[in-house]
Amino acid sequence: MARKIQAIRGMNDILPDQSSVWLYLEKTVAEVVKSYGYQQIRFPIVENTDLFKRGVGETTDIVEKEMYTFEDRNGESLTLRPEGTASCVRAADQAGLLFNQVQRLWYTGPMFRYERPQKGRYRQFHQIGVESFGMATSDIDAELIILSARLWQKLGLLEHVELQLNTIGLASEREAYKAALVEYLTEFKDQLDEDSQRRLATNPLRILDSKDESTQSVLKDAPNLEDFIGEESQAHFQRLQAILEANNVPYVINRRLVRGLDYYGKTVFEWVTSHLGAQATVCAGGRYDGLVEQLGGKATPAVGFAMGIERLILLLETLDLIPSQAKFSTDVFMVSMGDDAELASFTLSETLREAHSNLVVLRHCGGGNFKKQMKKADSSNARFTVIIGQDEVDQGVCQVKDMTTGEQVSCKLDQVTTHITNTIR
Ligand code: ATP
Ligand code: MG
Repeated sequence: MARKIQAIRGMNDILPDQSSVWLYLEKTVAEVVKSYGYQQIRFPIVENTDLFKRGVGETTDIVEKEMYTFEDRNGESLTLRPEGTASCVRAADQAGLLFNQVQRLWYTGPMFRYERPQKGRYRQFHQIGVESFGMATSDIDAELIILSARLWQKLGLLEHVELQLNTIGLASEREAYKAALVEYLTEFKDQLDEDSQRRLATNPLRILDSKDESTQSVLKDAPNLEDFIGEESQAHFQRLQAILEANNVPYVINRRLVRGLDYYGKTVFEWVTSHLGAQATVCAGGRYDGLVEQLGGKATPAVGFAMGIERLILLLETLDLIPSQAKFSTDVFMVSMGDDAELASFTLSETLREAHSNLVVLRHCGGGNFKKQMKKADSSNARFTVIIGQDEVDQGVCQVKDMTTGEQVSCKLDQVTTHITNTIR
């Protein structure tokens, strides 16, 4: 036998018993974002490598060590998208959607990062991203956060996630802070973990994120970013908090929250959960007023977030929050014996589907005797089995078996739809 080829490590198949949960989540998100006026945008999975180098930042984890980069046959450097924001900006700007306009956009799809695969962390994973452009005031930051809170509420997750907020100020304020932080940390360099030592030169703000105990204890007496934040950023942050409070969205301020990507400024936030171990963040975002210009467009204020679908699904499953209607189930299983009955069962199946577009009607295909077909009906877990043989065809009827009670009744063909839908609803 030929050797079987396996999927690539960290890249998962989404099998039939899982895909209904994905559809449920995607449908819920699509409804919520639409109700806030967000329209979907779709862009390619592959982009020029420079887009992410410039857009995400050369010294970020993503660009330093997580990208899937390759040369195409022309020798051009391409990258499988590790996130959606840079691509979204590229696509919207290329189409002339950004300058002097307001846009509310969202997207969903696979992202690729070369990370160590573990629960909640994969090499191909999926995000849903929501981005807004052309609005500089914190009302839009608040709207996005309120939108995400509404989504958690719809999914039953609101009480299981916590909103963490911070402001990281303007680029100039961060530069001043970085200088002070580096000066302080250099004194304790040998007490920092290896990653943080490296980041001292490349991306010192990320050191605040370090999980290392020794690094954290050094950080206790480090200068505070808060003290470097100017009036404008403070006012922006205050107003955001006031709107969230007025809308009853609880939050905690996490002064250590800086986010891993280069493009953020002012507002940053994360929704975290205590139910997923180290992979605690299910949704993360913030304001990125500098990115459009950094990618060659005209300066455009922007704010957005992305959530990880796999982590959300893990969370829904862990908390047993997947509604039974979201799971795939068969309503009617059709059994027939003989050619005439087969045709009658086709016609009846179509009639049922026509009458109720959400009814799942499974016709037995592939032949087999009555007993075999009834076994299939049993294992399909259908609510009803509809049986048609030659006698039924001759009399214009069928047998409808209620699989939960075992009760079987003879029913006129033109009354089956009413009989079934009356019982189900
Ligand atoms: P982390 O700190 O967990 O690595 P991140 O800061 O790299 O996350 P973002 O780039 O902000 O994450 O992506 C937004 C969300 O996408 C994350 O909060 C998470 O839910 C999800 N995510 C990120 N990387 C992965 C991955 N490798 N596998 C699964 N989900 C992921
Ligand atoms: Mg990461």
